[in-house]
Amino acid sequence: MARDYYGTLGVSRNATPEEIKRAYRKLARQLHPDVNPNEEARFKEVTAAYEVLSDPRKRELVDRGGDPLQSGGGGGGMGDPFSGFGLGDIMDAFFGATGGGSGRGPRSRVQPGSDALIRLSMTLEECAAGASRELTVDTAILCDVCVGSGCAEGTSPKRCDTCGGRGEVQSVQRSFLGQVVTARPCPVCRGFGEVIPDPCRQCAGEGRVRSRRTISVQIPAGVAEGMRVRLAGQGEVGSGGGPAGDLYVEVEEVPHEVFERDGSNLHCSVRIPMTTAALGAVLPLQTLDGEEELDIEPGTQPNTELVLTGRGMPRLRSSGRIDGRGDLHVHLEVVVPTKLDGRQTELLRELAAVRGEDEPTLAHNGKGGGGLFSRLRSGRGHR
Ligand SMILES: [Zn+2]
Ligand SMILES: [Zn+2]
Repeated sequence: MARDYYGTLGVSRNATPEEIKRAYRKLARQLHPDVNPNEEARFKEVTAAYEVLSDPRKRELVDRGGDPLQSGGGGGGMGDPFSGFGLGDIMDAFFGATGGGSGRGPRSRVQPGSDALIRLSMTLEECAAGASRELTVDTAILCDVCVGSGCAEGTSPKRCDTCGGRGEVQSVQRSFLGQVVTARPCPVCRGFGEVIPDPCRQCAGEGRVRSRRTISVQIPAGVAEGMRVRLAGQGEVGSGGGPAGDLYVEVEEVPHEVFERDGSNLHCSVRIPMTTAALGAVLPLQTLDGEEELDIEPGTQPNTELVLTGRGMPRLRSSGRIDGRGDLHVHLEVVVPTKLDGRQTELLRELAAVRGEDEPTLAHNGKGGGGLFSRLRSGRGHR
């Protein structure tokens, strides 16, 4: 039959975690064996109830009629309500702090390695085409002498005498409860529970060494500033020869001197003479695909934007596939001559006369043609 953990702590079945913690603290202060040696059995009971109800998974089991301390199939069970959790949990309940080590016995010497990041500078052309690069990386790799064990050849780790292999040492402090036993990582073995009496000479017992190596990396077409390519298992090997983290190569896009990038679209700005804008012309334009013809129609207005479809950057989807290409937007700036010699002035005056513009007047645009500001925002495209 399931025990009544809520009743033991004196809280309702829908008590919040905060209420449960408060109830436990209050009872523990009264019942702690250092304060009240006769109540040790009840203290254990209360502590077990708190341990169950403060763990959302165990609490859920209780709410469905189960008993997490009974189900274990042998291990733990009724015998010792302290089994399966450490002193750290109790200290957390008292002081509301994480208190450092979890107090769950010695920690493993073998730890997973961390990820590494290198930045790779790429031009716009390289981002468009993709690139294959040789990179020099400086990471921890597995020590090939001890193969991660950290021990000199023919030796092995031995149990730490200071903590007896538990990885933590206990000390007794006075507090409002009387004496409180606290645990901290063993200073001799640093919490590992074992020491290496004869460390490997190459890695000094770390199981890994720093090394510089060259790897080749393939950067896909369409990448942009800040995108990362992940190379699994090429990061830092962990201490004790633990599995390596990943290596991330982050793209650092060098700004292009002509093209400005907006996602998969490119923009550039070109200047054409006033006469070209009026007369029209076909002019060569250097794009990512080489030289293209830019068709400027007669009567082209200032701030016209010409769009060369499919001449932008490859669209790289998160799946890694390329989905077509963006466009190239060419912004036309019409240059009005600032210095005219006598002959040029004469020709322009003659043109003005022929066009009836020799006595010009101001013509208001009115509000009909889309306001000034909206025209400035959208540009005035043709074709
Ligand atoms: Zn070694
Ligand atoms: Zn130790």
